[in-house]
Amino acid sequence: MPDNCLFCKIIRGEIPASKLYEDDDVLAFRDIAPQAPVHILVIPKKHLSGPVAVTEEDERVVGKLMRVGNEIARKEGIPHYRLVFNNGAQAGQTVFHLHMHILGGRHMAWPPG
Ligand code: 5GP
Ligand code: ZN
Repeated sequence: MPDNCLFCKIIRGEIPASKLYEDDDVLAFRDIAPQAPVHILVIPKKHLSGPVAVTEEDERVVGKLMRVGNEIARKEGIPHYRLVFNNGAQAGQTVFHLHMHILGGRHMAWPPG
């Protein structure tokens, strides 16, 4: 499955992306269809199909998504931001590689749509 996974292809450099941060565990890049003035995705380099696939061995890297996200939000100048993980098609998941959305730069309504 990772062979055909869009985000695995971005990790491997087979599809270009506007990358903001990368290390051995995670990659952050701008969303191609931003839903807010700042819209960034932070993903683990390990292929996990989504939140439902996270196990105990992934806890460190999943926590790192948030820490890296904090640093990116600070650099992007958005002290107020929303983090979103969609799990499953009905919840809005379209890419089945775990990703954390960082959305900011505008007022965020609640409840979400
Ligand atoms: P989901 O709907 O699965 O939670 O989020 C997937 C996100 O990936 C969407 O916000 C979508 O705009 C973004 N996306 C889809 N294809 C690409 C792509 O090729 N490059 C980038 N940078 N983002 C993408
Ligand atoms: Zn993948």
